[in-house]
Amino acid sequence: MERRDYMLARMLLDLAEEICGKAGVAVVAALLANGPMRDEDLSKITGLNIISIRSVVGQLLAAGLLSVLRERESINWVNYYYFVDRHILRAALRERIQKSAELLYDLVDMLERNELLRCPNCSYLYRLEETVVANPGNELICPVCGAKLVDTSDVRQRVVPLLKNLIRRLSELWRSL
Ligand SMILES: [Zn+2]
Repeated sequence: MERRDYMLARMLLDLAEEICGKAGVAVVAALLANGPMRDEDLSKITGLNIISIRSVVGQLLAAGLLSVLRERESINWVNYYYFVDRHILRAALRERIQKSAELLYDLVDMLERNELLRCPNCSYLYRLEETVVANPGNELICPVCGAKLVDTSDVRQRVVPLLKNLIRRLSELWRSL
């Protein structure tokens, strides 16, 4: 297997486990090894019942990680073949990586603009304009515990370099797929 295909397969198995647990791994491993299959074929190979197979396949289709081919067998019967298409999979994984990087980038941006406040009590972060409630004294307080919120400059110095490093690694991963 080519290195890139190996990486795609590895990431797909990890995501399948995250989304559907062990059943997800079993279904994806069976599809990677055997190519396109119907749910009854998958059920035979994995030993999982048809309800579990349909649940796993449905979730992986919704996540854009699997593909499906319809084949009309007769006037009143259609077969659905599930398979892993490396081009579609690659696009889905790249999109996920990009979304994660964008979220991290937004977080860095908010930290650098000093738009986040932290509750010293429960450690939650709040966006200045969104979640903060001001009490009659006009102090910014935590909506969860009522403690006075503090700015995040201490967090910023520690966290921003880590986040930037993570973003750089995500973009390397994106390019390597
Ligand atoms: Zn709090």
